[in-house]
Amino acid sequence: MPDLSLIIPVYNEEESLTQLIESIHSALDPLSQSWEMVLVDDGSQDNSLKILTQLAEINPKQLRVVSFRRNFGQTTAIAAGLDYAKGKIVVLLDADLQNDPADIPMMLEKLDEGYDLVSGWRKRRKDNFFTRTLPSAMANWLISRVTGVHLHDYGCTLKVYRREVLEGFRLYGEMHRFIPVFANSVGAKITEVQVKHHPRKYGKTKYGLNRTIKVILDLFTVKFLVSYSSKPIYLFGGSGLALIFGSGLILFFLFVRRVLSAISVLGSPLFQVAVMLFIMGFQAVLMGLIAEMLVRTYYESQRKPTYRIRKTINLSKTKSE
Ligand code: UDP
Ligand code: MG
Repeated sequence: MPDLSLIIPVYNEEESLTQLIESIHSALDPLSQSWEMVLVDDGSQDNSLKILTQLAEINPKQLRVVSFRRNFGQTTAIAAGLDYAKGKIVVLLDADLQNDPADIPMMLEKLDEGYDLVSGWRKRRKDNFFTRTLPSAMANWLISRVTGVHLHDYGCTLKVYRREVLEGFRLYGEMHRFIPVFANSVGAKITEVQVKHHPRKYGKTKYGLNRTIKVILDLFTVKFLVSYSSKPIYLFGGSGLALIFGSGLILFFLFVRRVLSAISVLGSPLFQVAVMLFIMGFQAVLMGLIAEMLVRTYYESQRKPTYRIRKTINLSKTKSE
């Protein structure tokens, strides 16, 4: 088993691949750790798979390839790479030479200082300012605020992870960028280092402005999963109770006004508002209860623990059944 696994999603990057593998070798060959790279061909229509096949023949020990039948997206490619990678430490990076493998040794050193995740930060990002860099800066600010995990560059693929903090969740949609949030929720120690970023030399970017919208939508899911997935009633029930409370306040006001100045309760539009709020609140509480049942099915059917352990002392590895 290698110490280190590089996972690289590849979609139509034929011109970059040879150079990429060369620069990985010159960065990692001097290291004492053993390493492998898992390149996931995400249904490329160009010669990427052909080139990967040739490269894999030259280096059967370190270069592994997973090839998708069609394009499933970068996140799915990364998820597949994780399924096949064997290293205790995982490095994610892009195939397009925008990330620089020369940064990896420095990031590994940082990891050795006792971190579980070292996140790359493309401080001098070489992408279009209006469609990429600016929206991404705003998204990073928002994600940091909402999740409480403060990183400058969620979108930078180049990050180094300890295997343990990647276990226990699956990646959907555009969610690979949220791995630090999930990792934080299982108690990972996270830090950030500046990394180099190069303009895209070959091929073209697969993304535009619309990805920012997807990222914002994913943020809702991630926030919900991380903060409430084991106690959904706190969110649904909490907002339900707030609505019912609002409804009660309005009814109280109507009642007092009826007593003091004989204005009809039923005739007031506020009465309808109060009824509506009550129904909405009651529904929210019920929805919370249904969510609680779902959560129990989720954790108990798969015997997933609701906690994560760093280590145990004087205990064998498996807990008694
Ligand atoms: N990628 C992929 N599947 C896709 C889109 C992209 O595997 O559907 C890969 C792509 O080959 C590259 C990485 O994901 O290695 C990042 O893509 P890109 O460079 O287009 O994104 P950007 O750097 O512009 O954010
Ligand atoms: Mg790129």
